[in-house]
Amino acid sequence: MSKTETKEFQTEIQQLLDIVINSLYTDKEIFLRELVSNASDAMEKLHFQLVSGHDIKDKDLPLEIKITTNLNEHMLTIADAGIGMTKEELTENLGTIAHSGSKAFVQNLAETGDNKDLNLIGQFGVGFYSAFMVAEKVTIYTRSYHPEAASYIWESDGKGSYTVEETEDLPRGTRIVLHLKKDQEDFAKPETVKRIIKQYSSFVPYPVSVDGENV
Ligand code: ADP
Ligand code: MG
Repeated sequence: MSKTETKEFQTEIQQLLDIVINSLYTDKEIFLRELVSNASDAMEKLHFQLVSGHDIKDKDLPLEIKITTNLNEHMLTIADAGIGMTKEELTENLGTIAHSGSKAFVQNLAETGDNKDLNLIGQFGVGFYSAFMVAEKVTIYTRSYHPEAASYIWESDGKGSYTVEETEDLPRGTRIVLHLKKDQEDFAKPETVKRIIKQYSSFVPYPVSVDGENV
């Protein structure tokens, strides 16, 4: 097993993370919309690979989003059976912003005062980072659909750097574990999570369950 690598976030990402972590924005629950939308996108991409006849790891794994809560441990987990990420994709997709529009969004946010409106974060291609509004640490377990790919654990507290470590073979897809901030434990309650899913994610074209119950 390879050892853990530590990498720095690109400057713009770190700037965004500082804003997100310290945000007074009250509609924090939109982070769930962003993570469910990413899970759905990842399964859409997998579906495309499937119908294109490509060789795929865990071909029969159902395309669904499984959310689990753990109030005791202050944890919320969002798992999908989507396309997953290779090591290179982890670094490219979750560590750098390529689009100038996203950079401009971050620049704009940095220049607004205390009432930063983070609702549009998803539209600027940086929705994932909204997880840090509610989480003090995010751990991602991911396994690409490529049959020969390895499995990885990505982890960060959003403060400058993240780690990537190879791990034993995982099922295809991505599992995102949010270690919730002390004052955000409400998001580890199934009733809260179900309400948010119904409010923001009813359009998602894949089944979504919370603690095994379909929403
Ligand atoms: P966007 O979804 O607009 O591209 P995000 O910040 O939400 O921006 O996500 C950044 C990228 O990270 C995605 O484009 C995708 O490549 C990758 N990603 C995020 N979540 C997942 C996931 N659950 N499965 C696979 N890739 C993901
Ligand atoms: Mg997104």
